[in-house]
Amino acid sequence: MNSLTDIWSHLMETLAAQITSTSYSAWFHDASPVAITDNRLYFKTSSEFKRNLIQQRFLDVLKDSLFDLFSSEFEVIVMTPDEDLSDMEGFTIQTEDYTFENFIVGPSNKFAHAAAVAVSEKPGKVYNPLFIYGNSGLGKTHLLLAICEKMQRLRPGIKVAYLKSDDFTNEMVSAITRGTNEEFRKKYRNVDLFLLDDIQFISGKEGTQEEFFHTFNSVYEAGNQIVVTSDRPPRDMLKLEDRLKTRFEGGLLADIQPPDFETRCAIIKSKSLALSMVLPENCIIYIAENLTSNVRQLEGVVKRLTAYRDILDDQISIETVKKAIKDVIHVGEFIPTPDIIIEESARSFQLSPAEVCGQSRAKNITLCRQIAMYLIRKLTGLPLKDIGLHFEDRNHTTVLSSIRKIEELLTTDPEIASTIKDISANINSRS
Ligand code: ADP
Ligand code: MG
Repeated sequence: MNSLTDIWSHLMETLAAQITSTSYSAWFHDASPVAITDNRLYFKTSSEFKRNLIQQRFLDVLKDSLFDLFSSEFEVIVMTPDEDLSDMEGFTIQTEDYTFENFIVGPSNKFAHAAAVAVSEKPGKVYNPLFIYGNSGLGKTHLLLAICEKMQRLRPGIKVAYLKSDDFTNEMVSAITRGTNEEFRKKYRNVDLFLLDDIQFISGKEGTQEEFFHTFNSVYEAGNQIVVTSDRPPRDMLKLEDRLKTRFEGGLLADIQPPDFETRCAIIKSKSLALSMVLPENCIIYIAENLTSNVRQLEGVVKRLTAYRDILDDQISIETVKKAIKDVIHVGEFIPTPDIIIEESARSFQLSPAEVCGQSRAKNITLCRQIAMYLIRKLTGLPLKDIGLHFEDRNHTTVLSSIRKIEELLTTDPEIASTIKDISANINSRS
């Protein structure tokens, strides 16, 4: 559990169990999370009056729940609709260890790194927007937060918005429900630095794209900096509106590739030093030779090795390294749930999961349903009968013929093949 949304829903559940349901719905039904740092939670309520009451009556319960969750003390800050994070005293976005200083530069990421540094030194001037793309675990979020860290250091007090594109969507939807669209617009349109992480999730969400387009234009026209990350370049985002593609392509596109052998060695050394561990040279080489495509995995192995060293008081040998690699690769094997697969398939077709699982025989719904069945089979290996249970108890022959149908289309219809690739990538990025 680490996204703001997850933490918030957990917190609300805990709260609902502790206070009367009347109080809960009176004071919290329209509350929404804004940000969490290492020791503060910020959330919004709909009026000054509610804010005061919540502060008087509920702060302790909230703090206790946060303590249970994180085993550390949190401050809870309640905001009114017209307050902004940047008005809040002491708020800076925490970027933890994601700085330029500890980003190892090599041929695979040199260009993206240089662009990110340039942007943080001359925001809005050189490369706007900056669009960083590459596979998962290669340092996109690291660079994004490094820009943020450096700009906050160089210009204390600047307004920064850092968002995952899912959070942008959720916030937008809740603003619409509560009729606070105006504030939502104002909030992001006046920031000095707008960072949107993992924009691939915006694919196919028309409303979010529309809102983002306007936000983009006003940040851009005010001369402020925009940085976006994605797991693929704009041209490969099939369900991205053309006008957004054009905007992105008008800035600088920078890709990050998997690191080469030397860079992998340097990353392993740097990560182990940061954890006060000196690895023997042969171990470093062994890791770098065996894990080639993902920096997050390199880091995972190093972390594991420090744990072995501490717990087992173990000398690090090639044998220990092999064990650590096995653990990490195993953990890294992401098997999505059928629900995630259905959700992502539905999203790509702009349908709801209920429609996909339901009885409609409309052409696009049927196709989406068949794709979802095919992907569940392919990605989870569930028996046909169990797959059917997720689709209002359809029987195994229906599931089988759907899978066959898609297998056939995959070889004859490039557009469908590309849609399926798109959905699979979205599913994978949810690991
Ligand atoms: P992405 O957003 O591309 O999926 P992240 O930025 O989250 O990847 O990176 C995954 C992990 O690998 C992070 O802990 C990050 O600090 C680390 N990492 C990635 N690239 C580098 C690098 N060049 N130097 C140091 N650490 C890196
Ligand atoms: Mg990331």
